[in-house]
Amino acid sequence: MSVRRIAIIGAGPVGLEAALRARVEGYDAVVYESATVGEHFRRYGPMRLFTPFHMNSTGLGRERLRAAGVKLPADEEILTGAELRERYLLPLARLEELSGVVVEGARVIAIARDGFTKARTGSRAGSPFLLRIQGARGQRLERADAVIDASGVYATPNATGPSGLPAEGEERIQEQLESHLPDLPGEARPRYAGRRILLVGDGRSAATAVADLDELVRSGGEGAKTRVDWVHRARGGSAFAPIPRTELEQLPVLRELDQRAGRIVRESSWLRRHEGATILSYRAIPSGAIEVTLSDPPGKERRFEVDRVLALVGYRPDLSLFRELQIHLCYASEGPMALAAAILGAQGSDPASGKGCLDQVAHGPESLKNPEPDFYVLGAKSYGRNPNFLLSLGHRQIEDVMTLLGAAEPRLNAAAR
Ligand SMILES: Cc1cc2nc3c(=O)[nH]c(=O)nc-3n(C[C@H](O)[C@H](O)[C@H](O)COP(=O)(O)OP(=O)(O)OC[C@H]3O[C@@H](n4cnc5c(N)ncnc54)[C@H](O)[C@@H]3O)c2cc1C
Repeated sequence: MSVRRIAIIGAGPVGLEAALRARVEGYDAVVYESATVGEHFRRYGPMRLFTPFHMNSTGLGRERLRAAGVKLPADEEILTGAELRERYLLPLARLEELSGVVVEGARVIAIARDGFTKARTGSRAGSPFLLRIQGARGQRLERADAVIDASGVYATPNATGPSGLPAEGEERIQEQLESHLPDLPGEARPRYAGRRILLVGDGRSAATAVADLDELVRSGGEGAKTRVDWVHRARGGSAFAPIPRTELEQLPVLRELDQRAGRIVRESSWLRRHEGATILSYRAIPSGAIEVTLSDPPGKERRFEVDRVLALVGYRPDLSLFRELQIHLCYASEGPMALAAAILGAQGSDPASGKGCLDQVAHGPESLKNPEPDFYVLGAKSYGRNPNFLLSLGHRQIEDVMTLLGAAEPRLNAAAR
């Protein structure tokens, strides 16, 4: 079946750029977005991105926006998440080329192949996709010839308990548990100032949280009374997950964060470390606080109370969307297998090889193919649980998918070119 209509899931940076590229190539495209355009960048808020603007945008996007009279950031400018959304993603969605293409408040909840159950092989490619969409007025079914899943991973956080399991009682404290970096200098301040916080995680988001919590404590008033218990992995000396050398050398934001968070951890009395501890359970107690039970590395149990939990332990893909499709997933990362195998081949079998996001390369169109014809997982979700995805890789993936779809051929409305 020749592809005319492409359904794109998610109006994040990858979904939007894919839609623009598809429209320019003459495809009929629709982007279903469960929340708002650039939703996850809205949530990153005042957090500084670590890559400069030119790595977070495409030549096509910049060219079309300039032609539309939009003043863009300088190539090397480091923007916050909210700024990238305001100054690039929202203007992109307003381009005439994308007029009527992006549907906000439309959550894709399941996808199937029209007339085919998952188990049925045969000429699936000859049949359109069926997408079940949840909108404000209920559910509806829509059809498309090709689907790009660019729904990211930020909406599905990992759990905080032993070996990736939820800790006992974790589901019952959800109102006091946050899994995304809060806007501590702004909107989140009242929830954290003067409170007892359990911080979990030791990646870049946790390092950013430590730096923001330090600002909160230094800001005085209620903020000065904030106390933090921090559960992180035992890493033989370094408190945070080491940042690969290439990133420290080339990304000043990460270098500064690494130095600053390391210093705060060494010098601060408001931060109590539980290195290598495992969270066993949470129990809501009548005072409104949470009793946390940890197991220290020798296996000794320790109990204490906190008011809130800030769990920055990474994200995982929502696999439920394509449960009815034929997708071969990597048993470790839960990303599509062909790409996961290519990534593994490039980094070697040692996950601690020291290779980070700047060492990632695009692996070409073949790596994006799935057993299900014309279904592609792009963007952060294509990496599954592997956190090394970089936006610039997503831009390459879009080009590769256009190659697979045969973008060189004339399409419906060549006038959009
Ligand atoms: C704290 C943090 C900082 C980061 N900083 C950088 C950086 O500086 N540079 C960089 O290159 N990368 C960075 N990353 C990685 C970053 O997540 C990706 O580069 C980028 O967000 C990937 O874009 P995306 O379009 O694939 O996904 P997302 O930006 O996650 O967008 C997915 C979109 O899909 C929508 N959606 C989700 N589910 C559905 C559904 N079922 N139906 C419809 N819509 C749905 C969401 O609302 C969202 O708008 C960072 C990640 C984190 C967590």
